[in-house]
Amino acid sequence: MVGFPVPSSVGAVIELLKKSRYAIAFTGAGISADSGVPTFRGPNGLWRRYKPEELASPWGFQRNPRLVWEWYAWRMRIIARARPNPAHYALAALESMGVLKAVITQNVDGLHQRAGSKRVIELHGNIWRARCTRCGHKWLLKEPPSEDELPLRCPRCGALARPDVVWFGEPLPERALREAFEEAEKADLVLVIGTSGVVEPAGSIPVYAKRSGAKLVNINPEPNRYDDIADLNVRERAAPFFRKLMASMGIAMP
Ligand SMILES: [Zn+2]
Repeated sequence: MVGFPVPSSVGAVIELLKKSRYAIAFTGAGISADSGVPTFRGPNGLWRRYKPEELASPWGFQRNPRLVWEWYAWRMRIIARARPNPAHYALAALESMGVLKAVITQNVDGLHQRAGSKRVIELHGNIWRARCTRCGHKWLLKEPPSEDELPLRCPRCGALARPDVVWFGEPLPERALREAFEEAEKADLVLVIGTSGVVEPAGSIPVYAKRSGAKLVNINPEPNRYDDIADLNVRERAAPFFRKLMASMGIAMP
């Protein structure tokens, strides 16, 4: 902290973190975009000719499980090449310092865990996990599956497996959603990072926290639904902002 001019928004966020007793983070695609992970909101690149629903819906999977798995394997290869950025690392460091209690994420890429975050509530599942469509068995994939393994099958019962992510038309995992709202209720500070909050019901979690008495910090380069209820709007991308925050707090990047 010595001889380092602290940019005002960084200083303000540090002050809020210091005063908080139960801070949580709520993250979305923007934090992973800073690691080079595309939003995948719609098919891109080679996949442009498909509708999102063909690649990420129960009926799309029923119609062509191999095609869906190929898309997910392609995404996994992109994510495998990506690295956590200072925003992921800062959240993990704040957690190990006892400041941050949980990360609630809409991302499926596992970058929070790779950065060292322990308490991560995944609202939309995890792309590195497969789930049996018959017996429900779940297992982690260490690397993207190769073409000749697709579509993956359950190692226990041999039935067709699917990516353990939330698709169009599917509800959020009940337990994750319940835990997220419990954390939002307990929180006295929420860092909203890299999400416009348009996807429901996830987007309502920071709103619920605010109504339950938490302060809101909205760290997003673009205006969004949280602007009016946030106690502090930081119009910046996550990675550069948290790089400055870590420097100001004297936290080393791993
Ligand atoms: Zn099975």
